[in-house]
Amino acid sequence: MTNSDSLQQALKQYFGYETFRAGQREIIEASLAGRDTLAIMPTGGGKSICFQLPALLKSGVTIVVSPLIALMQDQVTALKENGIGATFLNSTLSNRENNQRSQAILNGAIKLIYVAPERLFAEQFLDFLNIVRGKMGIAGFAIDEAHCVSEWGHDFRPEYRQLSRIRQIYPDVPMIGLTATATERVREDISQQLELKQPYIHVASFNRSNLYYEVVPKQGNEQSYTNLLRQIKRLQGSGIVYCLSRKRVDEIANRLQEDGIEAIPYHAGLGAKEREENQTRWIRDDVQVMVATVAFGMGINKPDVRFVIHYDLPRNIEGYYQESGRAGRDGEDSHCTLFLGYGDLETIKYLIAQKVDPHTNEPLEAEQRIAQQQLRQVVDYAEGTACRRTILLRYFGENFHGDCHNCDNCLTPKPMEDWTVETQKFLSCVARAKEKFGSGHIIDILRGSLNKKVLQHGHEKLSTHGIGKDRSLDEWRQLSRSLVHQGLLTQTTDGYGILKLNDRSWEVMRNQRNVLLPIERDATPSPVADQADVSERRIDVDILFERLRLLRKNLADEQEVPPYVIFSNATLSQMSVDQPTNRKDFAKLSGVGTKKLEQYADDFIAIILEHHQQYPPIEPTEPNQSTKVLQESITPKSKLSKASTQRETLAMYENGLDIDEIARDRNLKPATIWTHLVQLVESGYAINCDRLVPPERQSVIYEALEAIGGDSLRNLFDHLREEYTYDEIKIIRAIWQNEKDPL
Ligand code: ADP
Ligand code: ZN
Repeated sequence: MTNSDSLQQALKQYFGYETFRAGQREIIEASLAGRDTLAIMPTGGGKSICFQLPALLKSGVTIVVSPLIALMQDQVTALKENGIGATFLNSTLSNRENNQRSQAILNGAIKLIYVAPERLFAEQFLDFLNIVRGKMGIAGFAIDEAHCVSEWGHDFRPEYRQLSRIRQIYPDVPMIGLTATATERVREDISQQLELKQPYIHVASFNRSNLYYEVVPKQGNEQSYTNLLRQIKRLQGSGIVYCLSRKRVDEIANRLQEDGIEAIPYHAGLGAKEREENQTRWIRDDVQVMVATVAFGMGINKPDVRFVIHYDLPRNIEGYYQESGRAGRDGEDSHCTLFLGYGDLETIKYLIAQKVDPHTNEPLEAEQRIAQQQLRQVVDYAEGTACRRTILLRYFGENFHGDCHNCDNCLTPKPMEDWTVETQKFLSCVARAKEKFGSGHIIDILRGSLNKKVLQHGHEKLSTHGIGKDRSLDEWRQLSRSLVHQGLLTQTTDGYGILKLNDRSWEVMRNQRNVLLPIERDATPSPVADQADVSERRIDVDILFERLRLLRKNLADEQEVPPYVIFSNATLSQMSVDQPTNRKDFAKLSGVGTKKLEQYADDFIAIILEHHQQYPPIEPTEPNQSTKVLQESITPKSKLSKASTQRETLAMYENGLDIDEIARDRNLKPATIWTHLVQLVESGYAINCDRLVPPERQSVIYEALEAIGGDSLRNLFDHLREEYTYDEIKIIRAIWQNEKDPL
């Protein structure tokens, strides 16, 4: 048996990580004990290690069933980088390749075999598997993307249905199912379809705390596009922009290209080859932005996606959660932005109305109804004023406490009003109408309507009829929406959206709970990083990060793999802060296991040493300082973007561009570029200013500073007889202050 310390050692040795993420250890221990397991974790939760580590520690071979060839290749590449014997068998391989791989398996060089389900049940493969069982044993089956087995999921694959056959052929080999699908129904279905035997089930929280959620109103086509462009420039890093139609994808990708963003399109209208090429270019960081329809993204493993922008409305919340969830798998801060446009709403409604039975041409009423309700939920999310996480997670049955500090609604909260009395009116109206109606009808009753439906049910006789005339239709709608979001009222998801009371509703009715309602503010663009404080992160760290990143890209290109396979951004980030200069220290980085130490330490250390000639290392004053700097510098996203925008300015300046050129290139004002440079100097970074202020002018400013001090810019400006600009004075003053009073 493996005790917990040796598990942790194995994690470090093979994958380079110090600690397990939530749930991983328990799942791995259950698997090692030979139990069937069901692991439900959000994207980026770290599911792969849950079956990979047991595969390495058990004797025999583990079979991994995975639906997508791209996914298999990705995982196998990553495993090989870590020095782990893994291979995949699928229809893209020639007979010769397949034979070679089979031989490698029988030679015992392989611990994990990835196969597509249809392959698994080919007679030839089953025979082969039998030989493997006899020779080295089968340690387990791992079913990745296990929701594909369920018709209730969003990605049903009939081939997956056959998987129960494994149980008949190998009744005693333990099986683990893994998925990021959150709904209860799908979870149950997986257990049943895979015939898991009393499985250990782990359901992780679906909260992705590193994602910042925001909603931006669309204001006309041009303005919206400008907002999009600004957003992309501000956020930086790899990103996805989702659009509703192919036409829009092409249009946006073109415009972004014209505006100097490296963007490429992806949609079902492109040829298979072009799609694949575009995908690879994006994964390898040759281009920054993928503009795509929702056809893009399933099975994309890229962990360092920094933003996902929905330029058009998504069709349902689950889809939104999964698509936006492609950001930040590596756990680093990332942005999820949704553009809310009422025009899109009409387009989607139109598309829904087109849903007809292909044989009879009759409208598919049930489907239309459900699609409409799902769309309403998206709008409710977008218009909602509560914490975005609370709203999203409620959809997956989680009661999140709100106040996440990482969504627009939490960071710029709207003023709250006490609506307890109105809520009590609303809830009692729901009760009196016997919990059989949706919000529209309840509001009609409250507002004293005598429409047909009200009369038909005799609801004009209810004591709650007309007791809510003092509030507008909009106000009641907002209350109703908010009650559902806050979990104070339950809404059915069958397409009818019937309101039902729950335990929390009764608490309000019994006066045990007050209800606060956020008051809608005018739609203003979300707060952006530009207003945030200046980063604490040392600028030399940023520069080193860029250098390490360049090395990573070169190594990745040589091997034709995506950069993140070599090291994650988190590892690079830690490397640029800790700046290890020997193998022993290098091995301590999270993400550096035995194999990667061997293969890469020297190259990266060489860059760090070179960097030290220019920026001598700062001795840590306390042992934990480096991790502290790292945390401070990467935690608040606002700070990070500030640092990176300065970093970009600096890099361009050091490459010889002048202020106006940088400003033009970055679509910023020259004054902003000046500010970046002044702030860089203020944070202790030595910039050669001769190109900004000619040396003879510098000395005059110095003299002025010595004469009257640096307290008042205005006095300096006057003292210099208005012949020197404020920018010139500011930057020289910053240098002068550094010299007088080094940081
Ligand atoms: P999922 O399949 O759940 O979406 P992955 O298995 O791809 O997630 O893991 C997401 C990222 O997290 C990967 O880059 C992986 O290397 C990293 N990761 C997984 N487990 C850990 C851990 N214990 N410590 C640090 N990073 C981890
Ligand atoms: Zn929030």
